Amino acid sequence: MLQQIYPSVAHDFSYELNKDMHFASAHFVPHESAGACQNMHGHTYFANVTIAGDELDETGFLVNFQSLKKLVAKEFDHTLLNDHEVFDDRDPNFFPTTEVVARTIYERIQKHLDTLKNKPVCLQVFLRETPTSYVVYRPKRGKKSES
Ligand SMILES: [Zn+2]
Repeated sequence: MLQQIYPSVAHDFSYELNKDMHFASAHFVPHESAGACQNMHGHTYFANVTIAGDELDETGFLVNFQSLKKLVAKEFDHTLLNDHEVFDDRDPNFFPTTEVVARTIYERIQKHLDTLKNKPVCLQVFLRETPTSYVVYRPKRGKKSES
């Protein structure tokens, strides 16, 4: 993958796993200040998620790579992001901007990690929307995922 250098996040966990994913999605930003982004258009998003923990599961994984792909790439690929229930065209905290999509990816992943016995955590979501623009989302320390 082209964009393979990501900002690293400091932590004290023994294991750190990173998963790269990409998905093609359409979106629009429903606000007049968004300019041309108010018109529906598409991006090939590149996401990198960082998961860490001290314990492995019964298969020797921190978390199954495939389950991460299912939660993110398979969910959003070839869809209009605004159509997803998790986004809301009436509330700027839920417009499908790069920032909100990155946070949403974090929330989906952490919700899944919370069901695992070995309790891994998602420390960072890197989301590139264009060759020149990306967002990094990091949850506040000690903050649990909103379910
Ligand atoms: Zn866009």
